Amino acid sequence: MRLALFGPPGAGKGTQSLLLREQFGLDVISTGNLIRKAISEGSSLGRKVEEHVHAGGLVPDDLVRDLANEAITALMYDRFILDGYPRTTRQAVWLMEFLRAYKAPLDAVISLKVSDEVIIDRLSNRRINRETGESYHLTYHPPPSNVDPSLIVQRKDDAPESVKARLETYRRETHPVEMFFRQAGLLVEIDGEGGVHDICNRLIDNVERLGTLQST
Ligand code: AMP
Repeated sequence: MRLALFGPPGAGKGTQSLLLREQFGLDVISTGNLIRKAISEGSSLGRKVEEHVHAGGLVPDDLVRDLANEAITALMYDRFILDGYPRTTRQAVWLMEFLRAYKAPLDAVISLKVSDEVIIDRLSNRRINRETGESYHLTYHPPPSNVDPSLIVQRKDDAPESVKARLETYRRETHPVEMFFRQAGLLVEIDGEGGVHDICNRLIDNVERLGTLQST
C-alpha cells in the first residue's frame, strides 16, 4: 500500500500519518521532518534550504525529490505514507514517473479538507517535541506531563508571518496538485475537521475500502 496525505499546512497530515502508521503498520515519509533534521544537523542540504523554510516558502523541487526518492527506495517502494510530498505539480509528475519505473504506483492521495479558520487555530496552537517530531495542540492535545517541557517548542515557521506566507505558497503552488491527482483518479477527499480520532476513523474507513490492507 502506497499513500500520500495531502492538504494545507495545519490540515493534520503529520498527526494522521502517525495514527495510520500505527493502524496499518506503514512507514511515514515526512519531507518536512527530513528537512528539519537536515537543518538542525547543519548539513550542507540543511544550510541550502533553511532560508526557504523559515520564510514560509518551498524547498527547491529537485532537493526534496532526492530526499523523498531516497526514503522510498530505503522502504523498497512499498508500505509507506507520504506526508507533505508532493507539494508542486512538478514533484507530483516526478513521483509518478519514479514509482512507475519500479511498478509501484500510488494507491491513493488522501486530501484533508479544512477551513482557513481551523488552520490558523491549529498552527498558532501547535507545539512539537523537538526530539521526536510529535505534534501537539495546546488546547485539544496538550503535551503529556511526563515529557520534559524544554523539549516542547513552537516551530519557527508557525510564527504568524511565516504562517501567512505558507498559506499563500500553498494556494499558489500546492493546491493545483490536488487537481493533478483528481485527474489521475487517485484523489480521495476527507473532512479534516473535528476530533483527531474522528478524522482518523474516516481515514481508516477510506483506506480499508481501497484494498486489501488490514489493521494491525
Ligand atoms: P511540513 O512539516 O510538511 O509543514 O514542512 C515544513 C516545510 O518544509 C515547508 O513549509 C517547506 O518549506 C518544506 N517542505 C516540506 N515538504 C516539502 C516539499 N514537498 N516541497 C518543498 N518544500 C517542502
